Amino acid sequence: MSDRCELCPRRCGRRPGFCGAGGLPRVFRWGPHFGEEPPISGVRGSGCVFFSRCTMKCLYCQNSPWSWRGGGADKTVAELTEIFRGLALVDRVENWNLVSPTPYLPSIREALKPLRDEGVSLPAVWNSSGYERVETLEEYSDLCDWALFDLRYSRDETARFASAAPDYVACSRAAVAWAWRRLGAHAIVRLLVLPGHSEEAVENLAWLATELSTEIPVSLMCQYTPSHAALRVPPFNRGVTEEEYAAVVEAAADFGFENGWTQGFGAADPASALHGENMPPDHGTVR
Ligand code: SF4
Repeated sequence: MSDRCELCPRRCGRRPGFCGAGGLPRVFRWGPHFGEEPPISGVRGSGCVFFSRCTMKCLYCQNSPWSWRGGGADKTVAELTEIFRGLALVDRVENWNLVSPTPYLPSIREALKPLRDEGVSLPAVWNSSGYERVETLEEYSDLCDWALFDLRYSRDETARFASAAPDYVACSRAAVAWAWRRLGAHAIVRLLVLPGHSEEAVENLAWLATELSTEIPVSLMCQYTPSHAALRVPPFNRGVTEEEYAAVVEAAADFGFENGWTQGFGAADPASALHGENMPPDHGTVR
């Protein structure tokens, strides 16, 4: 893979850049995941591949062992091919779920090519913070049969403070708009309600309703659990209140969203919500 990289909105130029990704794809864990949205997990589970490093730096990151600290192992393209092959033929998952794939897109495409040439082909899920460049999405649209994109913030100052991504709002909204126009109902928007910032989720719902469509599937998430640097930074050092989450769910109903999912408030076990902190590397079921 080239040392040059302008795959995400950072447009670093040279590697290693902001995300710290090197020339080889680095993978932390891979395996079937049964906890994604129903059309993604299906019956046999979604074949997640958690790529190491991330183009965002979220102070509350729940995957910091590999996203911030670079855990995992470098894989050659051939090794990555075998990971995808095992997910398809041994685990028999529903799809290849590429979690934070952006720094490694050229290698992922190269790894999937021999499988697709052999007729071993699954839908590809581009699972992302939403911090993407439309040019990159267009160039690698063969890796995006489903988009699972976040809209995390509606205000640049929050995105700057909490994720070091001052241009997040414009970039993520452009990415979601691209996905909706290209994929329709295969574009799922995740709104993770953040403590003290539930109004930003409502503002993003308003933007979706007015600029795109109330038919776009939305996943309203209350599973936020303080971790990593957020343990010391109010209000990110607490969970979301029932009132904050209810305000977002009500707003979605008021705007007339027709498709999507909510989470049972309080149903999540805080320990499992932090599974990223405790999940072992390599192959295995993902909780
Ligand atoms: S993917 Fe990483 S190296 Fe490439 S532009 Fe983004 S932050 Fe920089």
